[in-house]
Amino acid sequence: MKVIVLGAGVVGTATAYFLARRGFEVEVIERQKGAALETSFGNGGVIHASEVEPWSQPGMPIKILKWLGKENAPLLVRYGAIPKMWHWGLKFIANCTEERFHANTLVNLRLALHSLGVLQQIRAETGIEYDVRTQGVLKIYSNAQSLKAGIATAQFLSGSGLTYSEADVTECVRRVPALKGTASTLAGGIYFPRDEVGDCHKFTTGLAERCAELGVKFHYGTTVHGLERGGNGIAAVATSSGTMRADKFVASLGSYTPLILRGVGITVPIYPVKGVTITVPGEAWPERPPIPVIDDGRIFGLVPLGERMRVSGSAEVAGYDTTPSAARCAAIVNNVISVFPDFARCVDQRTAKYWAGVRPVTPSGTPILGPSPIANLFIAAGHGHLGWTMGCGSGEVVAAMVAGEQPTIDATGFALADH
Ligand SMILES: Cc1cc2nc3c(=O)[nH]c(=O)nc-3n(C[C@H](O)[C@H](O)[C@H](O)COP(=O)(O)OP(=O)(O)OC[C@H]3O[C@@H](n4cnc5c(N)ncnc54)[C@H](O)[C@@H]3O)c2cc1C
Repeated sequence: MKVIVLGAGVVGTATAYFLARRGFEVEVIERQKGAALETSFGNGGVIHASEVEPWSQPGMPIKILKWLGKENAPLLVRYGAIPKMWHWGLKFIANCTEERFHANTLVNLRLALHSLGVLQQIRAETGIEYDVRTQGVLKIYSNAQSLKAGIATAQFLSGSGLTYSEADVTECVRRVPALKGTASTLAGGIYFPRDEVGDCHKFTTGLAERCAELGVKFHYGTTVHGLERGGNGIAAVATSSGTMRADKFVASLGSYTPLILRGVGITVPIYPVKGVTITVPGEAWPERPPIPVIDDGRIFGLVPLGERMRVSGSAEVAGYDTTPSAARCAAIVNNVISVFPDFARCVDQRTAKYWAGVRPVTPSGTPILGPSPIANLFIAAGHGHLGWTMGCGSGEVVAAMVAGEQPTIDATGFALADH
């Protein structure tokens, strides 16, 4: 039986891998020249079950309204985007109740913990090298009230498998000595020992090579124009290289999934939310953090990736534009320097790489995995800020569904109907 996977980001490539392992004939259609060259390319690099809270949370609608028009806001909705997203926006607001937020957080945690295990298994089986570090993540807080709230959330999630330990300021500095100079501004932190870090692009290209060894055929440089109906379902994909037929299809096109599925009458509530990363060589800063640091208040991640350091942050609703905004990049770099003054040594305009990608965000903040209203079409998309964290597990779950098997984890909450 032949399956066509649309899109070779981390989610599509992981799905292709698990389908090929099950003995399917698999083809992947990807418009770029290789795997993981869009949102899975330059993301923050953190595998964090500790960050599973959706952005649709109590109080967020009011915050977004207050942030409108503010260039340095953590989540900035551009006025021009509003008319196209009101339906999505109403669903987002409906998910901001305490009850929905907790339920959605637990759905994400279930998948994130599963995905971590699947990633570790792939790593052991394939030996893919991707600048992995497995020494955990430190989240820091400069406000005592936020720290208290963060600990309460971690405690709540620990009931469903999240591991954490509280870190006072001395412990934060012990784990990340580069915090010494600004320790007096900290209230404390939380350490998540099972979180990992790695380069999502390197991993995905390595996985695509393993897929090819298993017989998966990649059609790179091929754009999907639409799906063609036939029989009781989808018969073929119309592409820039002609029509391609298969028995089953998986749509894993990230933020672009709704654009292709609406052609066959399926509405997928995913909206692109732009974020930026700045990647710099780390050599100029020998005392740089050995583990990722997430700053809860200033909302950035500072992540060691091999010999590089990557800073990530910003959420900007601006349609499908993927130009890194100079003002937002500068704001993030300045925030990092305010906590780590020595980071300034790494930021050289000749070597710094500025990148932006669009996170595929659903109103609930949970991904859509599983069957669509069309019998032989499946969806694996909508991973928002957590696609690297949940990508491998998603591929494994969706491949099981395509094969008609019971997924290894409870799939409640992933269906399109739940969104
Ligand atoms: C700034 C930033 C930081 C992030 N940091 C983290 C992090 O630290 N940890 C984490 O877990 N997640 C993070 N994320 C989120 C994560 O990167 C995404 O959720 C994830 O990459 C989504 O993967 P995907 O495979 O669904 O989508 P994509 O990677 O976008 O893959 C979809 C693929 O489909 C292809 N495609 C689209 N349309 C077509 C078409 N018509 N024809 C053919 N091909 C097509 C694209 O080229 C692309 O390769 C971050 C995201 C951003 C933007």
